[in-house]
Parts: sequence; C-alpha cells; structure tokens
Amino acid sequence: MTDQGPGKRVGVVSLGCPKNLVDTENMLGQFLQQGYSLTADPEEADLLVVNTCGFKADAEAESREAIAAMAEIKSRHPGQRLVVTGCLAQRYGAHLAQDIPGIDVLVGSAQYEQLFPLIAANQTTGEATLAVAPISPTAAPAPEKPVRLLTTPAHTAYVKIAEGCNNPCAFCIIPQLRGRFRSRPLEEIVAEVQHLSQQGVVEINLVSQDTTLYGRDLSPRLSLAHLLRRLAQVEGIAWIRCLYLYPTLITQELLAVMASEKKVLPYLDMPLQHSHSAVLARMKRAERYAGIVHLLKRIRHQLPQASLRTTVIVGFPGESKKEFRHLYRFVGQGWFDHLGVFTYSDEPGTVAYHLTDKVPAKTARKRQKALMLLQQRISRKKLRAWRGKTLEVLVESISAEHPGLVLGRSKAQAPEVDGLIYINAGQPQPGRILPVTITDSHEYDLVGHCAP
Ligand code: SF4
Repeated sequence: MTDQGPGKRVGVVSLGCPKNLVDTENMLGQFLQQGYSLTADPEEADLLVVNTCGFKADAEAESREAIAAMAEIKSRHPGQRLVVTGCLAQRYGAHLAQDIPGIDVLVGSAQYEQLFPLIAANQTTGEATLAVAPISPTAAPAPEKPVRLLTTPAHTAYVKIAEGCNNPCAFCIIPQLRGRFRSRPLEEIVAEVQHLSQQGVVEINLVSQDTTLYGRDLSPRLSLAHLLRRLAQVEGIAWIRCLYLYPTLITQELLAVMASEKKVLPYLDMPLQHSHSAVLARMKRAERYAGIVHLLKRIRHQLPQASLRTTVIVGFPGESKKEFRHLYRFVGQGWFDHLGVFTYSDEPGTVAYHLTDKVPAKTARKRQKALMLLQQRISRKKLRAWRGKTLEVLVESISAEHPGLVLGRSKAQAPEVDGLIYINAGQPQPGRILPVTITDSHEYDLVGHCAP
C-alpha cells in the first residue's frame, strides 16, 4: 500500500477477526474514494488508523499496544492525526482516549458512517472528536454499497452477512460491542459477491457472529440456506464456505444445500465451546451433550466428506477434572478435522465474570495443551488417509522461502486457521483451482504435486 498519489496518505492497522477485517476493507475503500492514498509506513502517513479488537484481555492488550505505538509516532510528526475504531473503541469509548493520549478521533463499531465527518471536524478544530454510542437494534449491519479494498489474496474474500449477536453466552462480551443481530439485505450481499467475482475472487468465506441466524430477522423471513442457493448462482465463484455456525441452528435445509450445491462447501465451522452439559448450562449455551452427538452423527451421515471445525474453552469457572475429562474423551472420539482450544478469559461485563470457583490459569493452560496434543494425533491420522488421493486445491501463493514450492488449500481448509497443502511440482498461478495428488502428510499440512 505504498502508492504516493495526490492528497493525504493514510496508514491502517487492522486487528482482530475476519469481521473486523471486512470493516477495515470498507474503510480503506472509502479512504481511496475520498482521495487519500495508502501507505504501509506509519512514519510517512498523514492519518493513522487503528481498527481495534477488544473482546478479551489479550486482544485488548494488543490493541492498546498498537494505539500507543501509533501515538508515539504521531508525537514525532506534527500535524499527523490518529483515528481509533472498532470493538475496543466501542467497549471503552472516551475512557480509551483518556487512557492513551494522542487519539484525535474515536469511532465505535456501529458509527462508521460518521468517520469522515469526524475526521474533517477534527482537522478543522484540532479538537478530539468521538462517536461511540449504544448500538441501536436497527443500526445498519454494513454499508449498503461497500467500496471495499481487499487485503486478502485477490482470489479469496470474507463477506460479512450480518452484524451483532443475540446469544447470551456467559463468557462473551461481543453482543455488547456489536449489538443485536442484524442481517444484511440479501440483494446487497448478492451484489457484493457479484462485484467480488468480477474482481477475480473465486472463494467466498461467509462470516458474522452467528451465521446460522441469517435472514430470520428479515421480512420476508429468509434463511442461510436460501442465501447460499442464491450465491451459488453467481458466475465465477467456485467455493462458498460458511464460518461461525451456531450448532443448534444447523438445519436439515442447510445440510441439504451443502449436499446438493457443488459450490457450497461441506465445511462446518461450529464453535461448541464445551461438551459437558453442566458446563454448557453454566456457559448459557443452548446445546447439550446428547444434542451435539446427535448433530455430529447427522452431519457425518448426510455429508460424509464434510470438514468439521470447532473451538472449545477450557478453564471456564467451576470446570472440574471430571468435566474436563468428559471434554477430553469427546475430542478423543475424533469428530473434528480442525480444533481451536482457548483458555477462559475473565472479562468484566460478562455474566461469567461474577461466577465463583475460577480455575487457575496454570490448570487451564495444562488442559489446553493436553487437548491440542490429542487433536494433533487425530489430525495426523486423518491427514494420512489422504495419501495417494487427488483433491481440488486452490492455489494461494508461491512460497517465498522455498523456491519451486507453492502453497494451496483444499475445500477442507479455511484461510488463516487451518493447515495448507504444499505443492512441490509445477508452477500453478495463485487463484487457480487444480487437482493435486497427495504424496505426504504431517500434523496439519499435506504435500502433493499437480495431477497430470
Ligand atoms: S454466539 Fe456466543 S460466543 Fe459467539 S459472539 Fe455470540 S455471544 Fe459471543
């Protein structure tokens, strides 16, 4: 991002999840529209923007460090401006500006439409300006006609289909940072995906806090399955993947679309958080152990080729050795191709924060390590079964470190979070989808060559 076009230069730091990245890409597109040029060097920027994450302690620390680093640079460049947006701005509002001097503009996670008027006001008055307010249930989930500048590789893009969350998970502060669930109108999403396809995007990853709830708040009421059927008709798009599915909302209809629509990948990212019903109840999650196993059996029956990803939390208040052993045995059954394990983060403002019987951090980390080692063995065994087989691979990039090595992903591998496929023969170009014959496998990655 170093074109030195006319007008002001903006440098942006984007933190957090793919949903926040989409917000950043929308902002970048608007900056270009406003005549800014982009720079990757904060020392030469006229405007510095930090799009923050704030849903748990370590993410908050990272965001505060990034803001402080930009504020330090600003202190050496008179006239430079510092803008802070996103979840941390929404979480703390003006307190954040008091904590970290040097912030000129503060914009909450649902006030992006005020970004440029606030920057202009600040440039006129020199006074710090902020727009952080409780998120109205009717706040627009996204710009009507986003002018995104993609920051992902040109062939893949995240598409945010909704904003906010209605679930009462006891450990989670996101509903307070992003508001109630609001679906984007279907036609706006279809138009965006058509536009992305014209730009050369072949893989779409649908994201929101609760992707399975899509359309239920719209009139007429729609569903994620309905949206997927429409997106499957968009020319040029080859793969459509769903991320952040709420387990109890995975319907027969959704599985049927995944089974029948070639472009809709049989990939289910469904955070379960735990397996033990008593822990799930304390977490204020809707699912229980029996329902989870029933769902997994239904998925494996209807979509034998499905790739399953989940995330769990260890060390939730009161998690006993017996409850952890239940989770360990559950993961040991080998349902999942991909597993993320997080230690509980004690977040002020959440229901769980007021629970007693907190699990020591050391114990939580030990449980996290044990689960990750267990899943590593399961993953190695699952990937070994791919040796000798040929599968479709989306070429991601040419390896910088290893000349002649090309990196790719299969339908079973989501960007950034799952393993990769190392292609060691042929020079396929990024963005192409090719048959690759697997010759070797490791814990999380596969090795292969382009099939003749
Ligand atoms: S589903 Fe639960 S964990 Fe996920 S964003 Fe909503 S409240 Fe948070």
